[in-house]
This record gives sequence, C-alpha cells and structure tokens, in this order.
Amino acid sequence: MSHPSDIEIASAATLRPITDVAHDLGLGDDALYPIGHHMAKIDAEQLNDRPAAGKVVLVTALTPTPAGEGKSTMTVGLTDGLNRIGVKTAAALREPSLGPVFGMKGGATGGGYAQVVPMEDINLHFTGDFHAITSANNLLAASIDNHIQQGNALGIDPRRIDFRRVLDMNDRALRQVVIGLGGPAQGVPREEQFTITVASEVMAILCLATDLEDLKSRLGRITVASTYDRQPVTVDDIGVAAAMTVLLKRAIQPNLVQTLEGNPALIHGGPFANIAHGCSSVRATQTARQLADVVVTEAGFGADLGAEKFLDIKAPQADCYPDAVVMVATVRALKMHGGVAKEDLKAEDVDALRRGLANLDRHVSTMQRAGAEPVIAINAFVHDTAAEVAALRAWCEERGLRSAVVEAWARGGAGATDLAQQVSGALEQPAQMRSFYAAELTVEEKIRTLVTEVYRGDGVEFSTTARRKLAEYARQGWDRLPVCVAKTQYSFSDDPSLRGAPEGFSLTVRDLQVRTGAGFVVVLTGDIMTMPGLPKHPAALDMNITADGVVSGLS
Ligand code: ADP
Repeated sequence: MSHPSDIEIASAATLRPITDVAHDLGLGDDALYPIGHHMAKIDAEQLNDRPAAGKVVLVTALTPTPAGEGKSTMTVGLTDGLNRIGVKTAAALREPSLGPVFGMKGGATGGGYAQVVPMEDINLHFTGDFHAITSANNLLAASIDNHIQQGNALGIDPRRIDFRRVLDMNDRALRQVVIGLGGPAQGVPREEQFTITVASEVMAILCLATDLEDLKSRLGRITVASTYDRQPVTVDDIGVAAAMTVLLKRAIQPNLVQTLEGNPALIHGGPFANIAHGCSSVRATQTARQLADVVVTEAGFGADLGAEKFLDIKAPQADCYPDAVVMVATVRALKMHGGVAKEDLKAEDVDALRRGLANLDRHVSTMQRAGAEPVIAINAFVHDTAAEVAALRAWCEERGLRSAVVEAWARGGAGATDLAQQVSGALEQPAQMRSFYAAELTVEEKIRTLVTEVYRGDGVEFSTTARRKLAEYARQGWDRLPVCVAKTQYSFSDDPSLRGAPEGFSLTVRDLQVRTGAGFVVVLTGDIMTMPGLPKHPAALDMNITADGVVSGLS
C-alpha cells in the first residue's frame, strides 16, 4: 500500500479552532487576531509582562544531501512527542517561500504525519507576511529611483545602488535587468538585479527585530547605495523607514497554527540560510518561550550554516541560546556522505554509512565546542535496514551521545516519544551554549574562526574585491559586525562536490556585502543564487484544483 501524500494527510485532518489552541497556551482573545478559523496572529505586545522562560531546543542536521534529512518533520514530530509525554511544548518554524513550493524542493510544513496545518494555506499566501515584506522592500526600491528622478539631492551614484527589488518567486529572467528605459519621464536607466524575498535584508530584519521601534530603526539603518563621492546612503537619508514599518505592522506579529495533533506552532519569517541567517523570527521564539515550557525550533541547512548562525547572529541579539540541540541524521544521507550514489541508496551498505559518519562526527564536535551534547535523532526511512540503524546507534553509544530512532513521519508524535524522553532528559541539565567568536573580533578574524572551528579548513583566501571591502568596512566602523557566510549547503567547504568531511581545503571569499540594518556582513563564497530559477519540470506542472476547490500536487 502506498503512503498517502502530505497534502492528502493534511487535508484529511480535523483541525481544532485556533482559539482553542490559543486558550491552551493561556492566550486570551484580546491577544489574538484570528485569520479564518485555523490561523491567527498573536499580539505579542499584550504579553510584555510575561518572562521568556521556556527552554529552547534547536533542531539542526548533518550536511544536507539530495536524499533529504527532515528537520521540519523532526521539529513537528518532537513537538508532538514532547506534548505526548506531558511537556507543554510549542514549535517555532520558518514560513515557506513560494519559490521552492512551485519549483523543486516543495513546501516547508513537515511531512507524513508530522506536519503543521492548514498545510495548503501555510505553503501559499498564509497570513500575507511575505507579501508585506515584498511590498515594504519594493517601496524602498521605488523611493530610491524616485529620489534620483526628482533631482538626486543626495548625489546617489546609480551605478552603486546595492539595494534590490524582490519577488517571492523563482524567476531567473529577472536576475539581470535594465530599468528606467524609455526617456526622461520613465526614470533614470540603470542595471537592476531582482532577489527572491527570502534573501532580502528586510526579511532578515523582520526576523531579528524585537518590536516595532527596533524594526523601524533597523530599517532606517539599511545602507542602500553610495554617493558619487563614495559616502554611504541609508534608508533614513531616503526617509521611508516609517512608511516601510507601517506596511510591516501586522507582519511583525507571530503567526499561530497547529500540528496535525493539535499542538501549537508559531510560524514566522523565513530568511535563507546562506545569504541570511536561516532562522524563524526572534519574536516567535520569544513569544513561544512566554507561552510554553519548551520551544522546538529549527535552523536551515546543516549545523555549519543554520546552527552556527543561530548561535552567532540570532542568539546573541535575543539572548535565546539553546538549552538542548537535536541533530537529525538519516541512514540515507550518511550513505551518500560515504560515497553511495542517490540511485543506489535502497541497497544496504553499512560500510558506506560508517564512512559517512565522519560528516556527522564533525557536526557533533562543533556543537560540543559550542557547549551542547547533541541528541541524535535518527529519522527513519522505509528502506533503512536493521544492520544500518544498529551501526548508527552503536556509533552514538560509543560517542556517549543520546540517540533515538524517530518514526514521526510514519506515526506522528507516537513515533517520537523516545526522542522526547531523550530531549527532556537532556533538558534536566540545560546546555550552556556560546557563540563561536567574540563580538569584538574583526570580520576577517571571525571568518577565520569559522573556517578553523566549524568547517575545519586550513585557511581563507580573500579576492581583491573582498580585501578592498574589508578595508572600507574598517573605515566605516562596520568591521566588528557578526558575519553571515553564504556557502554551499552541500559541503563543509565551498565546493558542493566535496561530501563527507573534507580536509585540507581553503575557503575563498569572493565578495562581502554589509547589512547595516540586519546587523551582519554577508560573506560570499562560491556562486550563491539570490534569485533561483525553475527546474526543467517544476512542481507547478503537477498541481491541480477541482471545481470545488480541492488542491493536489502541493508537497
Ligand atoms: P528539511 O526541513 O530538512 O528541509 P523536511 O522536513 O522539509 O526537511 O523534509 C523534506 C522532505 O522529506 C519532505 O517532503 C518530507 O515529507 C520528507 N520526509 C521527511 N522525513 C521522512 C521520512 N522519515 N520518510 C519519508 N519521507 C520523509
């Protein structure tokens, strides 16, 4: 019998009214802004007198492979598992982007019987946050061009505008365009590059802002361009920070939905995990900590990207260092790290799995350096064999690590109670986690620390452009900001073909971009796509809707 699809499972679920889910959290109707029956915004300002006392469990993973790992699935499954064993727990997840939903990867609402619902709404327009972010971003973009059109009092050099228009769609034709053609009435012609909304600084800011005031001042600090005499121009110079904040007034409020088992999930914000910091919003994490005893949250990609950024960018700004870390591993991904091709993954191969453990081992020791003994969550797939799972568990035991086989995808929270027990055992002695680098180090020193401590490479090469930017950032006083490394998610190195645990490599820093509103410097290595394209056979081609509105093909 074939397993029902994610949307079939989600559509068959009976959902609780969202007000009931909120009441269980102690949220009164005055703190709730319901959107339909199953989604609501939480008015976080109403909770200001409650301490953010809940413990934080961070879900991360080994280096991703095309075989898939299941961090969102695990986050939802663990939330249900913890609630089943009596721990009042909420999930905090990122909002899906329309680009992957209609492109290749699919949505981001978990899978199987470990999903958040209403799946269809969450994967599509949800509560409109991404539209609001897109609008705020493009209001600024339009204001910059209008400033130039209206006489350019600031002396903005149109060739040195770093702020891009955005769209929440994979559309490669917009990567390099020319705008303002058609004569003086149509604007000043210049090159433009569209970015997907989730890669924008406005998205990163929304996810890091603690309240409306902080949001407004961060937006005001965005550096958008430089003048002809090379002085930075900010949003406050353009004058639209308040108007952008007006557009984001509702979007900054966290969204409340539920898991298939009726437990609370706060889904809010969705920055990319390479060009941005890859975690759901600070507001959602802190609100969940005010309402539940435990919040389970995930960070994108492997621990070298998502968990690192959680510890170096999000946690210091919001003081939300994790009390426990869950590291997702799959037999399939370990075999790929051990050299098995994707099409051969169904055959048992314990030796390849053992070779692939070098990857998991490196991520585990990175988390240990940061202060946590990770709990290994083995996400069970149907083709895993008993010998493979036994080899993985034996390795965890040798390493002295807690581990559990998780069947949340197949069985929901019932398949995650063992993991829940292990995590609540770990929470009895909360981890004392720290960032990987000290705030006062320079950008260059921070990059070097990550390469040696987290990626375990030998060194860093800076291109001439990157060197020039380092010098400029020192002049501007931006050289002590945290760094946000945009690196391939498929390798510890900047070469996606180097799976496992590569050694002896050096990282090449191609370029740097300062994000003065979000408060970090993006470090570009390799080719990082900020506007993805659609694949040959996009998911959009397999979608359908019946006359009575039943949707299929969303995954
Ligand atoms: P991540 O958050 O790491 O990107 P997801 O949780 O979104 O991963 O899962 C990616 C895909 O893999 C989803 O389509 C999900 O349904 C599927 N998946 C996750 N766990 C399992 C499993 N144990 N068995 C089969 N499919 C799974």
